Amino acid sequence: MTRVFLASRNTKKLDEMQRILVEHLGEVEVVGLDDVPAYDEPVEDEPTFTGNALLKARAGAAVTGLPSLADDSGLCVDALNGMPGVLSARWSGPPKSDDRNNELLLAQLSDVPDERRGAHFACAVAFCHPDGREVVVEGRMDGRVIRETRGSGGFGYDVLFVADDRPDLTTAELDRADKDAISHRGRALREIAPQLATLLGSR
Ligand code: IMP
Repeated sequence: MTRVFLASRNTKKLDEMQRILVEHLGEVEVVGLDDVPAYDEPVEDEPTFTGNALLKARAGAAVTGLPSLADDSGLCVDALNGMPGVLSARWSGPPKSDDRNNELLLAQLSDVPDERRGAHFACAVAFCHPDGREVVVEGRMDGRVIRETRGSGGFGYDVLFVADDRPDLTTAELDRADKDAISHRGRALREIAPQLATLLGSR
């Protein structure tokens, strides 16, 4: 069976990757950071999602010797010139807190009128084969930042983001499958999966 390493501890991401890869590769086992011996993980200090995803996938392939995937994602707000971007997880400083990040973002946008509240989520997924072959793709989900938090699903900025494809609900109010179908991460994973099938199948 093909084994693929995903440089993440997030069990939801690992499950999502497993589900999508199985559709394209048949039998596959996705293992995460908690399934391999601990190693010095690289600092995510690149200015782009693609740069950070590649950094993590390369480190994973070098250490585990397995075909390795990594992702990096965040929210890019038009009125903030694309910020928080790669700083999304730590926008309000340490310790990481989704609630404080959301409060800060709402405060920063309090004077921004509805027609200028456009934003998108972006996700880069990078794949590194131990033989040096690499692929990286990006997915995005366009929408806008509303003025209050709504919903209890999802994570991060989902409570204040409404996607253009589902303008009735925040992404925290969508069920998981509905969010996966339109999300930046779902799109990137579905784009990279057939490419992985080709790369891994050609070995
Ligand atoms: P990471 O790439 O999983 O580390 O995510 C970076 C940060 O971007 C998260 O901590 C969230 O703040 C934000 N983010 C990324 N994807 C999403 C999403 O699908 N919904 C809400 N927030 C997200």
